[in-house]
Amino acid sequence: MVEVVALDGDDTLWHSESYFTLTHRRFAELLAPHAEPDALEQQLLDVERRNLALFGYGVKGFTLSMIETAIAVSGGTVGADDIATILAWGKEMLAHPVDLLDGVAETVEALARSHRLVLVTKGDLFHQESKVARSGLADRFEHVAIVAEKDGATYRRVMATVGVPPERFLMVGNSVRSDVVPVIDLGGHAVHIPYHTTWELERAVLPVTDDGDRVWELEDIRQLPALVAELSGTRP
Ligand SMILES: [Mg+2]
Repeated sequence: MVEVVALDGDDTLWHSESYFTLTHRRFAELLAPHAEPDALEQQLLDVERRNLALFGYGVKGFTLSMIETAIAVSGGTVGADDIATILAWGKEMLAHPVDLLDGVAETVEALARSHRLVLVTKGDLFHQESKVARSGLADRFEHVAIVAEKDGATYRRVMATVGVPPERFLMVGNSVRSDVVPVIDLGGHAVHIPYHTTWELERAVLPVTDDGDRVWELEDIRQLPALVAELSGTRP
């Protein structure tokens, strides 16, 4: 029986990756004199992967990685005006209004009537706090966990904080790697709701459990209350 429903933020409750995709496109145009789009994309990804341990997830780290990549692919000749342009994109992403996915507001409202809700999101602390505050959903959550990495240790800590065992914990999110796999490994339940685009570093294969149904995939968050009700023996 599911008692606590935990939700991911970026690309589960509100749009995020689509702004990154847009910025990638602008970055390719800006650096076109220095690099082919595919090679540039690969180099940026390598730089981001290397920098994750230092910068963590989020827009600020991404912005610094774009600047580092621009310097590298231009052989150190990229102009201050282009660096300023990249910085401006980063600020624009950080200041962008929180844009909820379709159906999120009513779904969270419905779930909050029957279940304890937790928000588990990773990235820049300051940016995530600001997004939670601007989402208009903060009051619906009993606990908001802004974390550096979504791994087993993190989920164990979240479960301990709200006092729920894995068997009564359901995590919902768009990333198989971050929202599904670690929770399933701990013995919990997880629902994958794919976003239309997935960051390369978040790609993973949906796990299969051999001890009954603990993993689900839904197309739309509006399908969630019915599934949660079914798992909890309550009505949606
Ligand atoms: Mg996400």
